Amino acid sequence: MSWLETYVRPKIKALVGSPPDIPENLWLKCDNCGQMIFHRDLEANHHVCQHCNHHMRLPIATRLALLFDEGAYETIELPKTPVDPLKFRDVKRYSDRLKESQSKLAAMAAGSGAVGDHRDAIRVAHGKMDGRNAVIAAFDFSFMGGSMGIAVGEGLVAAARLAVLQKAPLIVIPATGGARMQEGILSLMQMPRSIIAVQEVKDAGLPYIVLLTNPTTGGVSASFAMLGDIHIAEPGAVIGFAGRRVIEQTVKENLPEGFQTAEYLLEHGMVDIVAPRSQLKETLVRVISLLTPGAPDAVADLARVEAELEQAGSADLEIPALAAGDDAGAAGGKP
Ligand SMILES: [Zn+2]
Repeated sequence: MSWLETYVRPKIKALVGSPPDIPENLWLKCDNCGQMIFHRDLEANHHVCQHCNHHMRLPIATRLALLFDEGAYETIELPKTPVDPLKFRDVKRYSDRLKESQSKLAAMAAGSGAVGDHRDAIRVAHGKMDGRNAVIAAFDFSFMGGSMGIAVGEGLVAAARLAVLQKAPLIVIPATGGARMQEGILSLMQMPRSIIAVQEVKDAGLPYIVLLTNPTTGGVSASFAMLGDIHIAEPGAVIGFAGRRVIEQTVKENLPEGFQTAEYLLEHGMVDIVAPRSQLKETLVRVISLLTPGAPDAVADLARVEAELEQAGSADLEIPALAAGDDAGAAGGKP
């Protein structure tokens, strides 16, 4: 057979010329249905599969651009935090893992022209949403699984303070596996810390909204991510504390189908709205206008949103900003 390789192949190559350089990532395969999607179609559809509506992971810069007016926003530089305080090492040093993730993110950002702080798994941005100031703290899952350590906790505190300073609503978008194991108890301390941070926003009477994306699990779901005035989730997002297998092994029961998905949690009252990605911005804008006292369109929107919430099975949800009394602005009505 070697004559095929040594004689025929070079002849054919000489005849047709070498193949042009074709970028490898023009087509992507949907993880859910296995269909191939052209990259331009995927981008135009906000990384949602056009065949099965599967919501794929959205790069953080694209996510922020999707939500702010004209895609324009500014990120803030996050406070410096101690690096690898426990000098942790598994198969690799934690400090090396951090460096790898930082350079990976910086390379990705350079490729896409995105700006911002790539030191850890959170990005804090501010800009206008429907003409009003808004602060968004978004997790970057591509940085060590979006895990929450000291830097992420610090980012959440900075986001909350920025929201209070700007008298703007705070939107947090988790995409995370939970606490960062390499920081041990210091990462667990970010749970109460982040709760205090969002409480500052609530004390200032400002809306605090959580946009749950796939996945939101572990210590994040056990702290600030479940304390929003309103919880919006993307379709199919996995939201929970421990994984299905761990729970099944612990309680020795089979769990129901679709357990821990956005839709399941909507049915059971943990999530208020499941909104497709294409409607996220308008949903957020509507909810913010409803929760902002004195906003001219708040009253007009009330009936519409109430009807939607009723349809979503959360009819008993209190709408803090419009509720009379001194607890306006605080979260209420979560079962
Ligand atoms: Zn698909």
